[in-house]
Amino acid sequence: MADTEMRILEGMGVSGGIAIGRAVCLETRGPEVFRLHIPETQVDNEVSRLREGVEHARGELKRLRHRAEEDLGNDLAAIFDAHILLLSDAKFLGRVEERIRNHQVNAEWAVHKTAEELDNRFAHMDDPYIRERSEDLTDVSRHLLRSLQGIAHHDLELPSDIVIVADDLTPSDAIRLGRERVIGFAIETGGRTSHTTIIARSLNIPAVAGLVGVMGQLSDEAPVIVDGETGRLILHPTREVLRQYMRKKAELERRGRDLLATRELAAETRDGVRVALMANIDLPEEVEEVPIFGAAGIGLYRSEFLYIEKSPQMPTEEEHVEIYRRMVEAAAPNPAIIRTYDLGGRKLAREMMATQEENPVLGLRGIRLTLARPEVFRRQIRALYRAGLHGDLWVMLPMVSTVEEVRQFRAFADGVMAEMEREGVAFRRDVRLGVMIEVPAAAIIADILAREVDFFSIGTNDLIQYSLAVDRNNEHVASLYQPLHPAILRMLRFVIDSGRAAGIEVSLCGEMGADPRFALLLVGLGLRRISMSPRQIPEVKTWLREASAADLAELAGRCMEHSTAAEVQRHMDSFFECSLPSRVSASGA
Ligand code: PEP
Ligand code: MG
Repeated sequence: MADTEMRILEGMGVSGGIAIGRAVCLETRGPEVFRLHIPETQVDNEVSRLREGVEHARGELKRLRHRAEEDLGNDLAAIFDAHILLLSDAKFLGRVEERIRNHQVNAEWAVHKTAEELDNRFAHMDDPYIRERSEDLTDVSRHLLRSLQGIAHHDLELPSDIVIVADDLTPSDAIRLGRERVIGFAIETGGRTSHTTIIARSLNIPAVAGLVGVMGQLSDEAPVIVDGETGRLILHPTREVLRQYMRKKAELERRGRDLLATRELAAETRDGVRVALMANIDLPEEVEEVPIFGAAGIGLYRSEFLYIEKSPQMPTEEEHVEIYRRMVEAAAPNPAIIRTYDLGGRKLAREMMATQEENPVLGLRGIRLTLARPEVFRRQIRALYRAGLHGDLWVMLPMVSTVEEVRQFRAFADGVMAEMEREGVAFRRDVRLGVMIEVPAAAIIADILAREVDFFSIGTNDLIQYSLAVDRNNEHVASLYQPLHPAILRMLRFVIDSGRAAGIEVSLCGEMGADPRFALLLVGLGLRRISMSPRQIPEVKTWLREASAADLAELAGRCMEHSTAAEVQRHMDSFFECSLPSRVSASGA
């Protein structure tokens, strides 16, 4: 088969829409770097960009050295001297410059390839001293790459149709690349609820995950189509296929625009039951979507992405306050639920962790990590209670599995508030406090937890992962990730009923709520608040307005009687075909 013959690879559509562009292959096993072609006229600018990066990295290393000296003493701090020296090494930098000029590539790529080449040479030498230099080189190039990533290209016209094809992608890679004119993602790993795909949806970038072996099947610049709707990646499309996809893309965009008209309509069933459809926000700029898609407030702000984006620096208290203020103002008159950092797991916390965890998803994550690092948490708590003055801000704790964690948090927050009082800093004390229900233990003690907090938000992404022992990020077990598993339905019902019995608010902010069929089942189970990516709100609202709450309650009751997820699915399918045929046919299912 000719290399340029059309091929279709099947994966999972994890972020909707169509992207038509050119592949840039990204191997994340090493540092995450991609190659860009630099036009001849811009080569000098790219070299000065490299020099700026070197200056910046040198400054950073000097600061790190100074800190290490204070904390660890001069002997250990001297390790940084070797790094600073390498950054002044004319030979190393000369090679990088040469590569930029000769190959017309971006500075990041030139640093990465030069370091790789030297590293390969060192690896074949027996001398332990030289091998150590190789480690220094890896560290230094990492610093340099990080500095370069913060320096924009000088007037460089980046290609505007990049589709990133990657073996794996962390959420922070996705944020960074998504802001570099990337229009699509095609990834070997991942699942529907992995954070990387959640970020792709936040950035409104079509994505297909679970494309096993895709890396070996194409090279940079290959024309590709990412079909986030059906989960296909099309390599080297024919003209005819390209034309079909252009039509499909235009049609999807038109449908999206039409759905916006629902913004002014009430989110209620035919028989008048209101449901608050709220927005999940990952990136601060998404607050602008709250009014556009008619969200009834913010049901989840994943504040950890603020930390991740700033890393290795910490966001300041003022930066926190400012962003939280934007959230509450955008949500008004509805609440804005801000979740405290859910770092750990795959959402980096490298510089906070003393050691590498063998199983980070079961490790020091969420509330566990923040309680263990009060110096990091303190700043966030101060900002949250200060921002409470600007509107209806609710504080939510992630990954809670015990009542003690809630009590520990309260004691800690009381201490922080007492401190602010002493300092004369203005804040609001009666901010509502709630927990995510996303660990099975929390779901099972929901009746007990309900006495300790003001609200629950059910995090089905993790609740399903932990209950069914299925990694939400692992494409090999994606078929076992079943929101309709009877165990999940029982937990959902118990949590909703426990919250209602205790008179506290219960919402749900996992991805399950963004699927209109699941959302309606959740309404049938008694939920009256669902938070989702703002873009999904119009579609869910359209389904909701055609349904009857009484019928949905009956549907939920029936679904609870089945023994398997497949049986529940079949029951739901026939229910929707019968009662909402127009929605089913419009969705193409
Ligand atoms: C969840 O687990 O359902 C959730 C909303 O939190 P996250 O996706 O950030 O883990
Ligand atoms: Mg979670």
